[in-house]
Amino acid sequence: MYETNDSELVGKIVEIRKKSLNKLRRDFRERPVKYWLEKDRLLNNTGTSLVVILATRGCNWALSNGGGCSMCGYIYDAPITIPDSSSLIKQFDSAYEASISVKAPLAIKIFTSGSFFDEREIPKAARESILKKINMDKRIEEVIVETRPEYVNHEILRECREILGEIYFEVALGLETSNDNIRNLYINKGFELKDFERVVSMAKNTGVGVKSYVLIKPPFLREGEAIIDSTSSAIDSSKIGVNSVSFNPCTVHKGTLVEHLWKLGKYRPPWLWSIIEILKRTSEKINNRIRIICSLAGMGSKKGPHNCGKCDKKIRELLNEFTLTQNPEVLSNVECNCKQEWLDYCEKEFI
Ligand code: SF4
Ligand SMILES: [Zn+2]
Repeated sequence: MYETNDSELVGKIVEIRKKSLNKLRRDFRERPVKYWLEKDRLLNNTGTSLVVILATRGCNWALSNGGGCSMCGYIYDAPITIPDSSSLIKQFDSAYEASISVKAPLAIKIFTSGSFFDEREIPKAARESILKKINMDKRIEEVIVETRPEYVNHEILRECREILGEIYFEVALGLETSNDNIRNLYINKGFELKDFERVVSMAKNTGVGVKSYVLIKPPFLREGEAIIDSTSSAIDSSKIGVNSVSFNPCTVHKGTLVEHLWKLGKYRPPWLWSIIEILKRTSEKINNRIRIICSLAGMGSKKGPHNCGKCDKKIRELLNEFTLTQNPEVLSNVECNCKQEWLDYCEKEFI
């Protein structure tokens, strides 16, 4: 690991965040930031997901003096005028319409690039109305929302569980790593493993599932260290009792500390070979007990996870196939000359 001075690091994150927020010209929206349909791995089978990113006030951690996470630029998607409940419901409705002709089974992923349970982002009235609408639709088998742990309590989980009836409800948390030092010194996440464990235990008591997001290659970790960290974080998440792990290979977002390091030549997004290695090692240990997903965001681009450029497309397809089938054997169907370059880059002693 590289040496860092954490107060200097937080200062840098806050400085970059403030500068980028000041430059931003945001406006009011009644449309979501984005929405799309995708073939996806549901808990027990394959199906379709409607993914909707609602435009809210934005993540409070990123807006706070804490500065937010070192790799995350989602706050720059937030509108400057805070949407009220009715505009949030309209945002959801406009995305939902896109799914009308989709056949079951369907999953709905409601993201805010912040916390679904932070009522400054999604007021209770909007939350209830959106979930009630979902419960009327018999095609929907799963609902997934994202949140930081500080907004989760028994009451909110019970309320969502009751509205959604038989639908599987999963709360996704950005644990990023099970290592408190890496999470707080390098990612500046602002919470500890015990906060995550508290949510898992509350969710279990209320019949709610949990997904753990694991960040592949936080800043300041070498490639080989990142492989070890992500693998052990997924295995630890499984031991703690999550239902799903979603690996998020780090991409370089504008206006972040990671982008600053990348410009200085001090950060390279993960190699796709590393992602394959992590998925193989994790699958071997977890042996299909929980769902394992790999995000393909930014894959194959200079600012995203990449290899040499020749094998990236093929590997992207295989990673998608892995998510859909949960079969790690598909990850062996690729070879490329750049594998040796990756091995050298990793500094073998760390693997
Ligand atoms: S990663 Fe999540 S918690 Fe961190 S700043 Fe981004 S939205 Fe907020
Ligand atoms: Zn290659």
